[in-house]
Amino acid sequence: MEDVVILGTGPAGLTAAIYAARAELAPVVLRGDQPGGQVTITDAIDNFPGFPNGIAGFELFQSMEKQAERFGAKIVSDTAIEVDFKNHPFKIKARENAYQAKSVIIATGSDPRKLNVPGEKEYVGKGVSYCATCDGFFFKGKKVVVVGGGDSAVEEGLFLTKFATSVTLIHRRDRLRAHAHLQSRANANEKMNFIWDSVVTEVLGKEGGVQALRLQNLKTQAESIFDTDGVFVFIGHIPNTQVFKGQIKLDESDLIITDRRQRTDVPGVFAAGDVQDPIYKQAISSAGAGCMAAMEAERFLAEQAGEAYPGKLE
Ligand code: NAP
Repeated sequence: MEDVVILGTGPAGLTAAIYAARAELAPVVLRGDQPGGQVTITDAIDNFPGFPNGIAGFELFQSMEKQAERFGAKIVSDTAIEVDFKNHPFKIKARENAYQAKSVIIATGSDPRKLNVPGEKEYVGKGVSYCATCDGFFFKGKKVVVVGGGDSAVEEGLFLTKFATSVTLIHRRDRLRAHAHLQSRANANEKMNFIWDSVVTEVLGKEGGVQALRLQNLKTQAESIFDTDGVFVFIGHIPNTQVFKGQIKLDESDLIITDRRQRTDVPGVFAAGDVQDPIYKQAISSAGAGCMAAMEAERFLAEQAGEAYPGKLE
């Protein structure tokens, strides 16, 4: 029986682990299928306080994991596949082991949204990618497309200009959603081009890989073919909540609903980070939510044990 099981090792899960471990709750932390989560596929994180020159996403993950382990967090390579939150203690069935927990912190993050068009699945790894940091190098001297108009599309597009001869950003509207400073950098970069008001309707290629995209202009409905060696898709994320359906309350986008203290509708189950955040979705806001979830779990456990919680949360 564990006091706290934490699901996920992104900034939310690992910050929760640091706080829970320092509270001597010996948290068990399940790494999940993508240890470190989204930050590990981010080339450089420039807005995490404390790193004036930025930090590589993977390095940030490794440092946080080390820090959590230093205080006694037990980090295991396992992924939850089924949960029972209807009865207390909670049960978590994972690929390798089963766990029982008095409290659970869900920090399972989100996965990249897919285009869901013909050819996309077929050419994953052969020109279709969701990670510029992982695959950018393979496009040295080649021509690539980035789909999306948010921070990820522009930031990753700029990163790809290090390798590609040209990066064409295709966006469904005529204005970017990305922050102004990223927009300015993109406009100033001569390798970046833009195709507005357009969506990808098909990925075209041969066995060797992607050769072109079929595009549709949403204003004129005109179709066109755009030659490219690769397409990087950054059109948002889908929360990793499949496992929790029917166990806790989700909203219409499948995000976990929490109150301002990271509590879900099941007492003793907390959630933090991209899995419950409809607005901010930053490494630092996820870390903050992870801290709050761990403090709330500590308080929950103290109350369950009939002890007075020493913190001043009320
Ligand atoms: P996002 O902000 O949700 O942007 C998704 C983009 O994809 C939008 O431009 C959207 O178009 C477009 N889109 C959505 N579905 C589409 C579809 N089916 N077909 C074509 N286009 C589609 O996602 P994100 O860029 O991944 O960013 C997520 C969060 O992380 C944001 O809060 C962002 O600020 C944050 N982030 C921050 C940084 C940073 O601070 N350096 C870096 C990366 C991400 P519309 O604009 O028309 O909706």
